[in-house]
Order: sequence, then C-alpha cells, then structure tokens
Amino acid sequence: MPEAWKTIVEPFRIKTVEPLGFTTEAQREQILRDADYNVFAIPADKVFIDLLTDSGTGAMSAEQWAAIMRGDESYAGARSFFVFEKAVRDLTGYRHVLPVHQGRAAERILMGVTCGRGKTVLSNSHFDTTRANVEAAGAAALDLPVPEALRFDVPAPFKGDMDVRALEAKIGELGAANIPMIIMTLTNNSLGGQPVSMRNLREVARVAREHGIPVILDVARFAENAFFIKLREPGYATRPVREIAREIFSHASGCMMSSKKDALVNIGGFLALNDEEWVGRCREMLILTEGFPTYGGLAGRDLEALARGLEEVLDENYLTYRLRSVAYLGDGLRRAGVPIVEPPGGHAIYVDAKRFLPHIPPEKLPGVALVCELYRRAGIRAVEIGSLMFGRVEDGVFKPASMELVRLAIPRRVYTQSHIDWVVEVFADIAKRAVSLRGMRVVQRPRRLAHFTAKLAPEPS
Ligand SMILES: *Cc1c(COP(=O)(O)O)cnc(C)c1O
Repeated sequence: MPEAWKTIVEPFRIKTVEPLGFTTEAQREQILRDADYNVFAIPADKVFIDLLTDSGTGAMSAEQWAAIMRGDESYAGARSFFVFEKAVRDLTGYRHVLPVHQGRAAERILMGVTCGRGKTVLSNSHFDTTRANVEAAGAAALDLPVPEALRFDVPAPFKGDMDVRALEAKIGELGAANIPMIIMTLTNNSLGGQPVSMRNLREVARVAREHGIPVILDVARFAENAFFIKLREPGYATRPVREIAREIFSHASGCMMSSKKDALVNIGGFLALNDEEWVGRCREMLILTEGFPTYGGLAGRDLEALARGLEEVLDENYLTYRLRSVAYLGDGLRRAGVPIVEPPGGHAIYVDAKRFLPHIPPEKLPGVALVCELYRRAGIRAVEIGSLMFGRVEDGVFKPASMELVRLAIPRRVYTQSHIDWVVEVFADIAKRAVSLRGMRVVQRPRRLAHFTAKLAPEPS
C-alpha cells in the first residue's frame, strides 16, 4: 500500500462484474407500493445500490473460489471440516468448533441450551436476532451500553463498550446464578457499528470471572473491531491485527460467529466453545436441527471458503481500505449536512433520522420514511434501525425505540468510490427537501423481528 499518498485505494482489481438494476422513479413508486413499503420485499434486481446489509453480500476472492473447488462433500469427517476447524481454532484458541449455516443458528442452539424462564442475558447490546433467540428461549435480554453510545452526535473511540458499573449493579440485583452468560457484540451493530476496546473486554472479563459467569463473544465483525483497536487504543499501534484478534478471543470462553460478515463468505457461521458440558448439549442440538457436526448445515466447499476468508479478513491492507471506505461515506454525508452517528462505524454509516427529519415523530417512523425516500428517489436500499425494529406496543401504548437510525451498510469488496459519491449526491438532494417527507404507519406487525415482514403505508399528507 503506498503509504505516502492521501487516497486509499481498493486493494483489489475486479475480475467478474454484475450489472446494476436500473429503474425509473415511476417504476420504483409502484415497486414500493407492491412491497407494502417494506424494502425487504423488493426484488434485488430492482435495486440500484444495495446497502441493506453487509451480511453475506460481499465478494469472494479468486483464492476463495479456488477453495470452493477443493471442497470435500463427504457426510462425515470431510477434509474441508478439518481445514475449517483448524482456521477457527488457530484464530480463537477455543477447543470445540461447531459449524452452523449462519449466526442465528449458533444463537438458537446456545440459547436453547443455556437460557430459560427467570434467566437474563446481559450484553453491551444484543443484535436483533440474538435478542429474539434469547427471548424465544424464555429468557430476558438486557443491554448495558456505555452512556455515550446513545449520544449519537458526540464522537468517542469506543462507543461499543459495556457499562461495567451497570454490569456489576445488575449482577448484584439479579444474582449471578440467573445470568447464563454475558454477550459482548463486536462491533456493536445495533448502536452504530462501534468498536469495543480491549480495556473494556478485560474489565468485563474480570467482573464475569469474579462471579463465575461465562463471557461469550458475538464476533460477526471481529476483524473490524480488532483494527479499530490497533488504530485507536494506546499500546496496540504496532501489534499485528491477528495478534490483537487473538487477545480479544482470550478474554472470553466462546464465541458465536456469523461468517457472512468478517469471514468474507455468502453463507455460514460457527459456534466455538471451551465448556465441555455446554458443547455436548449444543452438539446434540446441532445434529437435531443443522446437521452432522462435521458440516453443520453447510457444504464442504462453504467451509473451505470460510477458512480462507478468516485469513483474508486480517490483511491490514484490506482493513485499512475497509474502514476508510466506510468513513469516506460518512465524510460525504456530513458535508451534505446529514446527521450521522459519530464516529463512522466499521461496516456502516448510521444516519440519525430523528435529527434529519425532526418534523416526523417516532411513532410515525422517521427512519422508515427516509428508507422509502432513498429507494423512491434513487433505488438505494437501506434499513431502518429504530421504532419499526425495536419499538413495541404495550397495552395499546406505543413505546418507541431509543433511536431512529437508518443504516447504510457497505458490502465488503463490492462497491467502488464512485458508487459512494453517487449515494452522497442523492442524500444532498434529499437533504434540501427533507421537510417535505411524510411519516409512515404500520399496517401489519408480526410478533417477532417485525421489520423483516411488516406491512407499512405512508401517512396522509
Ligand atoms: C448478522 C449478525 C448476527 C446474526 O447472524 P446471521 O448470519 O444473520 O444469522 C448476529 N450478531 C451480529 C452482531 C450480527 O451482525
């Protein structure tokens, strides 16, 4: 990487291309209506720039495609499993590695084995599927982020941290026996993709050890988190990012991973644990619902690509580009007068829709209003992280989420700088007419993970 230059270039060239979906504004208006204003229901070929998620949407490398051809598809004991197992063990240091088809399968299995009525899982912030799986297993999910995590306009280096005082207080109140685990989400997806510091991990691990509570990491974005530590935390600037990652894993006794993020593959995940008793019960569940323990719901070729992805993601040229390209979108939006969660996260920019559209109250879903406008105007697909995702109706009373954000997630190794320049141009245009945007209402809300399938409609003007 040419260190002396200002421009940080994509550290790859492109070998295979895919056309983007061009549509007219009139077509998009009709598509939105047909999708009941839920962008999850829009066919992907009708999307121009897809920033819905960075999950499973990345581009694989030539080496990963080559690894795909090496996949051993034996039912039991496939060679590809041992390649995968070694990659995960070398990285995490955990003894037992269970492949699963994606992150939430690891969540369901682990929560099914450890949670139940009267139990509470504590976290810096549960991701939405993690929370849903904790609750589906009969337990409560409680978030204890540091207070600055909710002050979106104030930058701080490690807003993904857990509030350690609040953690100690909660353990005192609930009793350690009722807390099956503490989950640290790296980076903190629900609160802006913000990293957790090594110092905070160490502190949480110390408190957990004192009370005999296991710490489990949700490591969908461990490499991005590790690189933020290298860039921001004193004492880490000259340490190789792989070593930093290993230190991260050393502060916990297991992890759940959605490989669709930092393993640079389109599907896959794993659960890695040290605890013999837990792993025995998890393996039984794995066989029951995912597959035999040497493939766990994946093909041998998936395991090969995943193992290779875990290597590639720790390339510091890649991580430099990755964090810089996300920050680049943040710089552009800031210049266009769009309020974002500061500082930019590792995988996404989060627009603060509450501040961008102050005339739309939380019950009229300002985030959804902005998401719909982005699609209508320009075919950009984003996702609301606000009262549609986390709001509740209790006894007929609407309880808004604590934030109204719109996430612009950047798929890995997919879009170039000109795609991002264009997104910024669209935002600058919307910013000029922001007061004309209307609120939205929910027409039909499913009980769990409502944002995926809810039906919506615009409020009358
Ligand atoms: C994506 C994600 C999950 C769930 O993983 P899936 O592969 O989508 O099932 C869990 N935790 C975090 C932090 C995530 O980003």
